[in-house]
Amino acid sequence: MTIPTRVLAVGAHPDDIELGCGASLAKLASNGCDIRALILTDGLQGLNQFASTDRHMETREALADLGVTDVHLEHFADTSLPADVSRMVAIIERHIDDFGPDRIYTMYAQDRHQDHRAVYDATLIAGRSVRQILSYETPSSWPNFQPIFFEPVSGGFLDRKVKALGRHASQAHRSYMQEEEVRARAIFRGSQVGTGPAEGFEVYKLVA
Ligand SMILES: [Zn+2]
Repeated sequence: MTIPTRVLAVGAHPDDIELGCGASLAKLASNGCDIRALILTDGLQGLNQFASTDRHMETREALADLGVTDVHLEHFADTSLPADVSRMVAIIERHIDDFGPDRIYTMYAQDRHQDHRAVYDATLIAGRSVRQILSYETPSSWPNFQPIFFEPVSGGFLDRKVKALGRHASQAHRSYMQEEEVRARAIFRGSQVGTGPAEGFEVYKLVA
């Protein structure tokens, strides 16, 4: 398995990347991998009583906790991404040309949230020349999410993910942001392959 040296992580909303592959990114960053994060919306639909919150700032701080400082934020309309796939493809292609990732982490094809499905579609089109494309899970992924690629994240990386998610004060009321649930998911994924806590990924393609 080729270890990546340049990784692009793509998410629809502030917090998707941290939830899906935050501990893996912390591990890769600590191993010297260059990581770029691309978030396509400002997440305004997820605010409610926190209407004045800058979710882009929350995700910048969270990603910095994980060692990711090359962060690019777009302003597509939250919940409307299916209407913008072509424009998203162009933006992701630009990052691929500019950054040259050998692995992309993106969202999962089967997900309740239409924005997540649209990001998956756009990534596959834009990423046709990239050798590795993995899908991370989120709390709205369908229950049939079946990872076959696992990243063990003991050694402090899961702890850093928990801390990073705590930066999302506007989302702190959601059950999936609670430390117990984040740790439980990682323990479950690791138990599927006999390791300590892990993050699991569906594989679209994995070229050595
Ligand atoms: Zn999302």
